[in-house]
This record gives sequence, structure tokens and C-alpha cells, in this order.
Amino acid sequence: MVASYHQNCQARMQDSSKRDTTGNQGIPGEGENQMNTQTITLSWTAQQRQNEKRRTDPICKKARAEYYKLWYETHGRGRSQKAKEQNKLWALRNPKANKARQTVSRALKTGRLHKPSRCVNCNERRALLAHHEDYDYPYMVTWICFSCHPRKRDN
Ligand SMILES: [Zn+2]
Repeated sequence: MVASYHQNCQARMQDSSKRDTTGNQGIPGEGENQMNTQTITLSWTAQQRQNEKRRTDPICKKARAEYYKLWYETHGRGRSQKAKEQNKLWALRNPKANKARQTVSRALKTGRLHKPSRCVNCNERRALLAHHEDYDYPYMVTWICFSCHPRKRDN
């Protein structure tokens, strides 16, 4: 039951793909910038379209909520021990990046930095991370979402 919580959604997605060919069904809940969203959906890959569908579809949302409720009940809300160890290792391996990260987190609390609600690259409301071009300037931050972030430094 845990492995395939998207069963219902996949059935829904097949239905909606049929609708997509006939009518112009945009992403639900995105009324603004009709032209913009259409051009973006055209340039999306199939995987991205599926991700967006899963993110916004109400049946997907319900299935996801149930799945994570169960997951948190069994695993707990906190970070796993493995994740904590990995974070510590990352901090040891990237001392400069870790220091910049700490500076940003402190600056957000004191109000020196302000975190916007949208990604500067794709202008979507997503979880944002503070991207540093140069760790020597910890306050020079680009607020960017995970999918727009160039994962070059890690790995
Ligand atoms: Zn983005």
C-alpha cells in the first residue's frame, strides 16, 4: 500500500491527458498568466508535467497526505539519524558553505536578509534555498528553488 499510493492519480492522469488533446486544460489553480503557463507547459518534459500534476491534483494531494501521515506516525517527525550524520559530514567537508549557511540562517532570524516567496529563476512558489555564488560573501544570496538550483558543487 505504501509503494503505490499514486494508483488513483495515474488513472486520473490518463483521463486528463485525453482532455488535454481536445480542450485547453491548463494547470488547475493557475489563473494568472495564461499565455505564460501555456508556453511553459509546452517546453516541459513528460516527467515535469507528471510532477506538476501530482503536486496540484486534489486526489494526488489527498493520497500524499494519507501516505505521509502514516509515514510520520511510524518514523517520527524529526530528522533521521542517518540524515543527521550526513549533514554533519557535509558540514565537515564544506566548512565555507556551512559557515555561509549559518550566516544566512542567522540573518533571516535577525531580519538582515528577507526570503521571498517565489523562485527568482522560474517565479514559482516553491521551497527556496539560498544559493551562494561566492561563499566569501555570505549575504550575496540568490533565492532559488531546488529544481532551478545548479547542483554543481555537491558530488
Ligand atoms: Zn525555480
